[in-house]
Amino acid sequence: MPRLTDLLRPAADAAVFSPHGRGFAGAVDRAVVVMATVAGIACPYGPVLWYKSMLVAFAAIGGLVLLGAGAATIAAMFRGARIQGPRRRSALVGRSAGDTALAAWIAACFAAWPIARAEAGEPIGLVWSLAEAGGLSAVIWQTLLGVLVLDAWLYWKHRLLHTRLLFPFHRGHHVYRDPTPFAGFAVGPVESLLTFWPILLVAFPWATHFGPTYVALVGGFVLLNYYLHCGVTYAALEATLPRLFVNTSAFHNRHHANAEVNFGEALTLWDHICRTRAEDRRK
Ligand SMILES: [Zn+2]
Repeated sequence: MPRLTDLLRPAADAAVFSPHGRGFAGAVDRAVVVMATVAGIACPYGPVLWYKSMLVAFAAIGGLVLLGAGAATIAAMFRGARIQGPRRRSALVGRSAGDTALAAWIAACFAAWPIARAEAGEPIGLVWSLAEAGGLSAVIWQTLLGVLVLDAWLYWKHRLLHTRLLFPFHRGHHVYRDPTPFAGFAVGPVESLLTFWPILLVAFPWATHFGPTYVALVGGFVLLNYYLHCGVTYAALEATLPRLFVNTSAFHNRHHANAEVNFGEALTLWDHICRTRAEDRRK
C-alpha cells in the first residue's frame, strides 16, 4: 500500500507528461459522468423536468462557452504578444473543444437541479432584488467573501490535482502546453465535478446569491479563463490585473509550460502566500 504522504507529494514533471496510467482514473472519470447524468432520475420534481432543464443548460453553457472560445481564439490571432513564440505543435483545438463540451455536460448536470426547482415554482438561492439579498452591504461583503473562499478552493483543488494521487484526473488538461481559449474549460469529469459543484448551492433558498453579481462573476470568470489560456498577453491587462491579485495570461501560461508553479486559477493570492510562483522557485 502506498503511504498517503507519498501520494500527496507533487507529481514529478516526468510523470506529469507520461501518457500511461489513466486506467483507473479513466474509469472513475466515466463513472462520474454516468452518476451525474443518472442522478436526475431522483429529482423530486420529476425526471422529465430535470432532463429538460439539463439539456437546456447544456446547450446554453456548452454553446456560449465554445462560441466565446472561438471569438477569443480569433482575437488572440490578430492582437497581443505570443508568450511561447511561434506555435510549434498543433493547438489541439478539436480535442479541447470536445473536453470543454464534456465539462459543460457536468456543469449542466449541476445547473439542472436549481433550474428544475425554479421551474417547479419552488424558491431557490438566486434572488434579483437587493431587498431579498439582505441589502447592499450584505451583497458587498458576501460577494467579497464568496470570491475569496471560492478562490481558496480553486487554488487548493488545483494543488491537490497536482499530487501523485490526483494528477491522473488533471493530466488531460496539461496536454495543452501552449493552450488556446478552448483549453480554458478542457478539464476531465472529476476535475469538472470539483470545479462546478458550487452551482448546486443555488438550489437552496438559504444560500442567497444576488443575481446581478452572480451573473457578472460567472461571466467574468469565463472571460478571465479565456485570457489565461489564450497564449498571448495584452499589456494593459498585464499591467492592471496583478495589482488586484487577479491571474493573468503571462502567469497562467507558465503553469502550462511548467506544471510545478503558478497554481492560482482566479486570483494569485495563494501562490503569493505559499510561495509557489515561478519567481519564488528561482530564488
Ligand atoms: Zn495544472
